Amino acid sequence: MTTLRVVLGDQCSDALSALEDLDPGRDVVLMAEVRAECTYVRHHKQKIVLVLSAMRHFAQRLEARGVQVRYVRLDDPANTQTLAGEVARAAGEVRAARIVCTHPGEWRVLQDMRGWQARTGLPVEIREDGRFLCSLDRFRRWAADRKQLRMEFFYREMRRETGILMEAPDEPTGGQWNFDHDNRSALPRDIRPPAPRRFAPDAMTREVMDLVARDFADHFGTLDAFAWPVTAEEAEAALEDFVARRLPLFGAYQDAMAEGEPTLFHALVASAMNVGLLDPRAACAAAERAYREGHAPLNAVEGFIRQILGWREYVRGLYWARMPAYRETNALEATRKLPDFYWTGETSMACLRAAITQTRDLAYAHHIQRLMVTGNFALLAGLDPAEVNEWYMIVYADAFEWVELPNTHGMALFADGGVMASKPYAASGAYINRMSDHCRGCAHDVKAATGARACPFNFLYWDFVARHAERLARNPRMAMPLRTLAKLDPAKLRAMRGQAAAFLDALAHGDAPAGPAGSRLL
Ligand code: FAD
Ligand code: SF4
Repeated sequence: MTTLRVVLGDQCSDALSALEDLDPGRDVVLMAEVRAECTYVRHHKQKIVLVLSAMRHFAQRLEARGVQVRYVRLDDPANTQTLAGEVARAAGEVRAARIVCTHPGEWRVLQDMRGWQARTGLPVEIREDGRFLCSLDRFRRWAADRKQLRMEFFYREMRRETGILMEAPDEPTGGQWNFDHDNRSALPRDIRPPAPRRFAPDAMTREVMDLVARDFADHFGTLDAFAWPVTAEEAEAALEDFVARRLPLFGAYQDAMAEGEPTLFHALVASAMNVGLLDPRAACAAAERAYREGHAPLNAVEGFIRQILGWREYVRGLYWARMPAYRETNALEATRKLPDFYWTGETSMACLRAAITQTRDLAYAHHIQRLMVTGNFALLAGLDPAEVNEWYMIVYADAFEWVELPNTHGMALFADGGVMASKPYAASGAYINRMSDHCRGCAHDVKAATGARACPFNFLYWDFVARHAERLARNPRMAMPLRTLAKLDPAKLRAMRGQAAAFLDALAHGDAPAGPAGSRLL
């Protein structure tokens, strides 16, 4: 009685539920590289390399343990190039009696899995993904009796339940749950973050890089700088490097941005965690240990743990509780097309240029760049959530829909009307200027809200607040900007809104508005 155990590309974990009770003498593990998964959105080249290389290394690891692995390569002539096709082919050829798999990370794939039973005639068991600290049932129970969902309350519950960073059942370490107010500094000029450890591609990864360069040449992004961990050992080394060298200042400069500093004090572990190479519990434990041993301060450690135990678990729960309707919402009725510069990085706006070009080269931008630069621009300019969601799914090595969608659709775009975030993360150029040095070298003047050199974030911000004033008036957290709006000189507001309209019109037509001395902006 052979059990076919299916392992997906983002399930490269020893502790995967589909592999529990595996009988190496009898069972077969199926891992299939399929074109449909590489192209349903046109993923960044580095993301395809990451997933395929992690899969190949993981298959090798299983084989070394004596597990029978049926590994289907992308260039195998018999490959049907769809997941369902490969499951059906394998089930027939190995004469499987049943199929076991782990709950996937995307709604789309879950629908596919639910069709495997009908297609193969075999029972299909979809197991809970135990790699998360909060089960989907647990999240639903937590959410069920609440009028409004807020991450902070979920996070406290997770701290209590797991005992992470707790002194007693209701006593958080340091006497408070959240140290976010200590985590908002810009980067001083004399502090240079240590470069993160890079993982040079081995022969197996280089082979995948050649394949991707050839077969997905027209996908976004470059491959030259590929340095992501692709094995559990590398992922652990990446975490160790972060804890030893960057965690102590992670908290203070978590929201900072700096020209030429694409990674600052961030961990760069999301891609490894999301494909299954790094256990989130291990990441939290390593950070907590650093605090207890006096190596890192509490504001940094709590900030890091909140991202993983709080945000990461919360967005997953929210995604599965709200899909599939979630992605169809468009609360702010945003319909503009994504401008070309999101792909080329060719824009006179220095903050956007930095975020987009590093995204092209590294498949990475840190949270504040995603939220307050590319996300903020998309929100203010009223870009179509479907196009923006797709962009974020394509461009980051760590992009998987369960985590990408709530962050983009909910947190950055407010397209869910406030399910994910308590207010729109809208900001003018002043925020970017406070948290970065981008404005110093920018063609735009961050202090100007109208005129040829005005920072587009300024006039777009006031246009956004005015455009949505009625809706935002229902939100107490928007009271301050609305009060400021009411006090604005009407002529100034008219001028800003006029400039916003001309700018957005030019954007829609792919034209660059005129800048100073006949230059072209955008
Ligand atoms: P660090 O800043 O060092 O944080 C540590 C870890 O905390 C991350 O590795 C990640 O696992 C977790 N984390 C931090 N913030 C979040 C968050 N908001 N939601 C969930 N987990 C979080 N994260 C993804 O993993 N995949 C995505 O596709 C993704 N898309 C995003 C889109 C937008 C618009 C925004 C605003 C955020 C998105 N995030 C996404 C969250 C966050 O930006 C990334 O997790 C982070 O930048 C990854 O880099 P890092 O490992 O250096 O993280
Ligand atoms: Fe960005 Fe405006 Fe600053 Fe330029 S001036 S970097 S567009 S915020």
